[in-house]
Amino acid sequence: MDANTKTDAYDVIILGAGAAGLMCAKTAAARGLKVLLLEKANKPGKKILMSGGGRCNFTNMHCAPDYFLSANPHFMKSALSRYSQWDFIQWVEDHDIGYHEKELGQLFCNRSAKDLLNALLDDCREQGVDLHCDVSIEQLAIGQPVTVKTNIGQFTAPQLVVATGGLSIPKMGGSDYGYQLAEQMGLTVLPKRAGLVPLMFSDQHQKLFSDLSGSSVQAEVSAENAQSFTHQVLFTHRGLSGPAILQISSYWQPGESIYINLIPDYDFLANLIEAKLNTPQLSMLQVLQRFLPKRLAETLGKFISGDDLQRELQTFNQKQLAGLAESYTNWVLKPAASEGYRTAEVTLGGVDTNHLSSKTMAVKSHPNIYFIGEVVDVTGHLGGFNFQWAWSSGFVAGMSLKS
Ligand SMILES: Cc1cc2nc3c(=O)[nH]c(=O)nc-3n(C[C@H](O)[C@H](O)[C@H](O)COP(=O)(O)OP(=O)(O)OC[C@H]3O[C@@H](n4cnc5c(N)ncnc54)[C@H](O)[C@@H]3O)c2cc1C
Repeated sequence: MDANTKTDAYDVIILGAGAAGLMCAKTAAARGLKVLLLEKANKPGKKILMSGGGRCNFTNMHCAPDYFLSANPHFMKSALSRYSQWDFIQWVEDHDIGYHEKELGQLFCNRSAKDLLNALLDDCREQGVDLHCDVSIEQLAIGQPVTVKTNIGQFTAPQLVVATGGLSIPKMGGSDYGYQLAEQMGLTVLPKRAGLVPLMFSDQHQKLFSDLSGSSVQAEVSAENAQSFTHQVLFTHRGLSGPAILQISSYWQPGESIYINLIPDYDFLANLIEAKLNTPQLSMLQVLQRFLPKRLAETLGKFISGDDLQRELQTFNQKQLAGLAESYTNWVLKPAASEGYRTAEVTLGGVDTNHLSSKTMAVKSHPNIYFIGEVVDVTGHLGGFNFQWAWSSGFVAGMSLKS
């Protein structure tokens, strides 16, 4: 350590200045605790800045436990009710940050995610949080006190909060530090995988659908043992993306198929039967174009129906029409893989909630250590739920730390 390095004692050391760490830091500091917030990256809150297309979908008005995945579906209830979406919205309003609902209860900043991050940083500054970026942790000893040796000095505190996030987007700070620390402490870390992530076609499908890149369609998508999501599906040059695909990706397991209803808003079979009666000379393609964009009808129609696409409706019997309707309303597709952590919004799995108090986020076997945010096995749907979990878990930990 050089002459400029610091050696200091705090009430709590928080690792990770992302959404959860910042919320926890400002909450604890407002209660009078001396807080040290250590961030590995050169700036705090990088994922806040890049989220929601730069406008941060910071919460969802419909937030409720049903919108989360976890091995324990009850775990998040306590934190979400102690610090709800309405509490965060109140904080946003108190800080004069303009916001709007985009759709489905999703709230975004009017101007920029910077407004939200700056407000969090202002709160931290006003409450006296000691924030340091570009920090690498060289050694961490969990004891009483906790001692953290870093490139900028050695720090001690009776309490430690781990808010180091998940593995997604390594360039933006995604790290396995929290998981490793949990394992060193003897805690179970449940299997991790990329969530809210585009799915990739097999090589064969990639070639067949290459000219669809950029097309999108409203569809209902489901996976095995999962609820379905109805929203846009976007064809990319590598596979499928768009909100419905991102949502189902959190439920999809490698090797499984997904099921896509390309015509979710109509009874397609009833429409085919009616069209056969009224316009028997129309081809299958002509009917399909009433329900799907032209490019999609042509390319997907050729893939799904083959030569039948050009056949006149009058040449199909009832059973064949039913088969055709089924193939468009339950298109079975086996993705080759997901795009992985490189583009995933979240990491599923993580620190097993059985080890944590749902009221405080403290480790039951080590009551002076807390895990909050994405590192914990709680993952939200697309739409602002993941930030709400970061705010809620950060808040309850911040309120529970001993002064
Ligand atoms: C592209 C993208 C868009 C997203 N959009 C949305 C959205 O609009 N709405 C929504 O709800 N969710 C969104 N998410 C998810 C959301 O960003 C995360 O759920 C949320 O940031 C998790 O908060 P966190 O504080 O737990 O982790 P993070 O925000 O990831 O913060 C963890 C911090 O810890 C730091 N860190 C890691 N290791 C160490 C270490 N060893 N020492 C010190 N610091 C460390 C990291 O650098 C990082 O700053 C998006 C994610 C991505 C990737």
